[in-house]
Amino acid sequence: MTAYDSLMAFQRETEALGQIAGRLGWDQETMMPRGAAHQRGEEMAALQSVLHARRTDARIGDWLTTIDRAALDPVATAQLREITRSFQRNTKVPTKLAAEIARVTSKSQGEWAEARSNEDFKAFVPTLERVVALRQEEGQALADSGDPYDALLQDYEPGTTAAELDEMFGALRPRLTALRSAILEKPAPKAVDGAFDEAAQLALSQQLALDFGYDMNTGRIDKAVHPFSSGSGQDVRITTRTNIADPFNCFYSTIHEVGHAAYEQGVSGAYALTPIGQGASMGVHESQSRIYENQLGRSRAFTGYLFGKMRDAFGDFGIDDEDSFYAAVNRIHAGYIRTEADEVQYNLHVLLRFDLERQLIAGDLQVADLEDAWNSRFEADFGYAVDKPSNGCLQDVHWSVGLFGYFATYTLGNVYAGCLYESLRDAVPSLDADLAQGNTSNATAWLRDNLQQHGGLRTPRDTIAHATGASPSEGPLLAYLDAKFGALYQR
Ligand code: ZN
Repeated sequence: MTAYDSLMAFQRETEALGQIAGRLGWDQETMMPRGAAHQRGEEMAALQSVLHARRTDARIGDWLTTIDRAALDPVATAQLREITRSFQRNTKVPTKLAAEIARVTSKSQGEWAEARSNEDFKAFVPTLERVVALRQEEGQALADSGDPYDALLQDYEPGTTAAELDEMFGALRPRLTALRSAILEKPAPKAVDGAFDEAAQLALSQQLALDFGYDMNTGRIDKAVHPFSSGSGQDVRITTRTNIADPFNCFYSTIHEVGHAAYEQGVSGAYALTPIGQGASMGVHESQSRIYENQLGRSRAFTGYLFGKMRDAFGDFGIDDEDSFYAAVNRIHAGYIRTEADEVQYNLHVLLRFDLERQLIAGDLQVADLEDAWNSRFEADFGYAVDKPSNGCLQDVHWSVGLFGYFATYTLGNVYAGCLYESLRDAVPSLDADLAQGNTSNATAWLRDNLQQHGGLRTPRDTIAHATGASPSEGPLLAYLDAKFGALYQR
């Protein structure tokens, strides 16, 4: 056996164990008996320590130095790129620091939840200070002499830098604030009205998942508090939720998660249980969920199809025609919460977090001053004041569990989706006619052929560039938003 074969055989087992850890997490959110939480914590911790030992196994270092890289094909080269990145990431952080981060962040999520329900940011300050300090230390360990925040970004979007994101996001911000204030001066379109039967919502969301090509032979849909997608290869599961008054919550979170799941199901079987046998990055992953959800699912064409399905399922819900339904689906309204935000305002929420978290990690902003910084930035971008911490700096769980560098990938995903949609429209001239029939097969086949099947073969930017023929930029997303919402709000 060559060194490469030995390394890949070892890696395959690590990937299989990683899938098992993911499935334990899925189970915890869907099926696990409530009384099993403590034991599950021990089960997960035991599996994580096995995984950590494998990811830092000294044999990986030996194999990596033995392998003759000049003789490798592009697939093997990509496997080594991913293995090297993971090995360096896991061995650079001292074991003691990694254990302390795990210990503090497993407790801090509960403290965040309590502070949030008490509307008391000050109570959470000491915990968050500890989390920030630990991630600063980790960033320094990972960065060598480079920038700690850039080092943290690599966990979510390998190859990107804060400077690069800053330029892209800096171009988005003024255009998005101008668009949102122009829209909010116009009268708001009518919203749907009524109580929407839960079982009927779940039945229609299952139909939508099938319409978007979700393979139920290697997937399943369950209910959970937060929608998510989990697993790779032959076992890719999603969850959804229902809200009696707001059926779009269920339908569009299902389509979003189907976008994530279809990406995993679409990766070439030849890469199964290898480091490149999954999405290229968080940002590229989010491009798939967002293009399914927004550019396709919230299009005029597809909402025409959905309107008919909803009339069949729910009867009269206060909207009389397809154009009004399209306006209701894409309604822009003032709000505080990122996860409830529409296509125009969503990225403004992300940009705010990106700027604040960079300052936190750089030490330019103290945790004690975070609430004030958040509130003044929010008022500058949204035009009104935050009323309470649960609508402000305590709304998202991410920072409490140490996820610094993660938020940017949400907007990167939207930017990438904008680029992909521009190419997709050129490649599939029948797109609108297809979507009006609820037929996404030409669109999803284009995404599978040009992006999904390649998994992590290329770096994130190259994955998008390979599919679109151009380096990713914010231009196509802005053009799409201006055209769509300009037309919607002039009527
Ligand atoms: Zn997502």
